[in-house]
Amino acid sequence: MKCDRCDNKAVYSRKYSGENFCSDCFSNAILRKTAKTISKYKMIKNNELVCVGVSGGKDSLALLHILNQMSKTHNFRIRAVTIDEGIPGYRNEALEIVEKFCKKLEVDHVVYSYENLFDLTLDDALLQRDNEKISSCSICGILRRRALDYATKQNNADVIATGHNLDDTLQTFLINMISGDTNKIGWMDPDTSNNTLRKIKPFCEIYESEIVFYAFTNDLPFQSEPCPHMNEGIRTEIREFLNSLEGQRSGIKNNLFNSILKISQTVKDANYKEKTICSKCGQECTGKVCSVCQMVFRLKDNQT
Ligand code: SF4
Ligand code: ZN
Repeated sequence: MKCDRCDNKAVYSRKYSGENFCSDCFSNAILRKTAKTISKYKMIKNNELVCVGVSGGKDSLALLHILNQMSKTHNFRIRAVTIDEGIPGYRNEALEIVEKFCKKLEVDHVVYSYENLFDLTLDDALLQRDNEKISSCSICGILRRRALDYATKQNNADVIATGHNLDDTLQTFLINMISGDTNKIGWMDPDTSNNTLRKIKPFCEIYESEIVFYAFTNDLPFQSEPCPHMNEGIRTEIREFLNSLEGQRSGIKNNLFNSILKISQTVKDANYKEKTICSKCGQECTGKVCSVCQMVFRLKDNQT
């Protein structure tokens, strides 16, 4: 079978659209789709420094690879940021991979650790949690969001890009629905152009399977060892459920994504609150003390 765009042999068939691509045309299609998402949701403005959150997994390395190519032809700069959660045996390998990859691409790379920022590693935090129902990933996610905010400020950047793909968005939506966290659906609107600090997800319209293929076909050196906490939540089951639906009816993930876009905008408008400043850390929030400070203080209280 031939590539639809050139005379080379096709190596990838996009089921939901019926298109066939050779390796180069596939990579170009992913780059163009990412560029389109960035421009549609006004993700990057002229002359900005974009901090790219790079964990060492396939999504974040693919994002760094693509944004690095785009930064050569567009008016923005990038810097890679890795957050070290303090998960023994897992993060060390990833740090080495990211360090090497950044050297190869000639991209600056900075590392921030939970230990330095919050005075506790993820393992410390998990030992101190007083409610077993809060999953490791919820605690880790809250700390990571704050660590990335901090890194972005420290680097004098206004925007932080993460490698979340379309599948991640769908899973997060369903997790929020199942756990009754409907407010958080308002945070899922990809247009954050009015926020002081913009958190962008340039792969939010790309299937996870396509990012995996992009990483393989471009020989990206991603870490394959998963985090030991990965299967503690319900995310893996939801991922499998959505993959099985997509296998029976291609394009279902795109349809759900489009519905999430509409719902998230409605929830965001309905829940709009004036921003205040957290009295402990000075970050924007909607109360007196932000949720991150509340959580970190509680964990530390338990420690003493
Ligand atoms: Fe943190 Fe969960 Fe990701 Fe592990 S899988 S790094 S605990 S968010
Ligand atoms: Zn081709």
